[in-house]
Amino acid sequence: MIGPLDSWLRDKASARADSGLRRRTVAIRENSVDLASNDYLGLSRDPRVVGAAAEALHRYGAGSRASRLVTGTLNVHADLEQALCELTGQPAALVFSSGYAANTGLLTALGDADTLIISDQHVHASLIDGARLSRSPVVIAEHNNVEHVAQLLKERAQTRAVVVVESIYSVLGDHAPLKELAAACELHGALLVVDEAHGIGVAGLGRGLVYQEGLARHPHVVLTVTLSKSLGAQGGAVLGSELLRDHLVNVARPFIFDTALAPASAAAAAEACRIILREPDLAERLHENGRVIAEALGIKHAIAAVQSVPIESPELALRTAEALRDRGILVGCFRPPSVPDGVSRLRLTARANVELQELMDALREVQDVLADLGARPTGVAA
Ligand code: PMP
Repeated sequence: MIGPLDSWLRDKASARADSGLRRRTVAIRENSVDLASNDYLGLSRDPRVVGAAAEALHRYGAGSRASRLVTGTLNVHADLEQALCELTGQPAALVFSSGYAANTGLLTALGDADTLIISDQHVHASLIDGARLSRSPVVIAEHNNVEHVAQLLKERAQTRAVVVVESIYSVLGDHAPLKELAAACELHGALLVVDEAHGIGVAGLGRGLVYQEGLARHPHVVLTVTLSKSLGAQGGAVLGSELLRDHLVNVARPFIFDTALAPASAAAAAEACRIILREPDLAERLHENGRVIAEALGIKHAIAAVQSVPIESPELALRTAEALRDRGILVGCFRPPSVPDGVSRLRLTARANVELQELMDALREVQDVLADLGARPTGVAA
């Protein structure tokens, strides 16, 4: 029997299918060439990282058994917070169970009716949701437009303001003008929140773009990270002053009401931080592979793991990604609403642990499929 919900859901599903916007969860083939994942430095399978996770798993168990403020805070969480501070040069860190939770936790803890949130047009959904949940008034700034941000800051009616950006943008692969944004925030008495999800492990020889730009202890700058990309694990964190950390411990609901990060993930991420600090050449290798990808596809090289290939329609982007998957090559495919400017994109990620020959062979296949489907990259990737 078909209930009212089924027919409503079927209508929704066929509308999505008609416009090329249907999403599916498809398990990947183990032996695929990975040009899509966020494991930018290959640390998720590094024996040292896996070993640290296994040791914590056996020592503490599969789960952390409670939220942090009850009995869930373990030595591995404190150790991870210290390792994150050493990597990023920040004074204090607070770990959350995902980057999504870190972003929503931070913005809900900072926002209120008298705090204007100015959010770059291309920030990640977790920052958008955090801003919405905070009940702050929110305005969208044009992408990477410092003058627009400064104007919004200057003309605001609210006492406080928070500017929200990503250091390196997750789909475009371009980076924010952090120094100029920090200066505008300083001038107008605002806070700059920088999501370093795609910057940690990648920019600043792995220490992030905030560190590279000399903003690590800037009083107007706070950052968030995910542990699930370059750090090869799972989880998230907010980094800033001790005072900010204490505030979050007391008011950030995604911290207070969430079970603490699993010990294996915490130990894995801490080990990854230490490896990145010791081995800056990992980030260098990633950038070399990024240059190879950009050259092969005739796109503007981004100083990022993310190399973005705009495609003229969502259908064509999807068909290209699916044809490549059938050939054992994984690339990311981003379509509206994940891309606010409506431009669908293939996203190829440069990773440190892909051999040059394997990468070149895979890129030849990408070129073939693009040519077969007549899917030429449109314009210049941002
Ligand atoms: N911020 C950005 C920019 C991201 O790309 C992501 C992950 N897609 C997140 C936050 C969320 O991190 P997590 O996957 O750890 O929840």
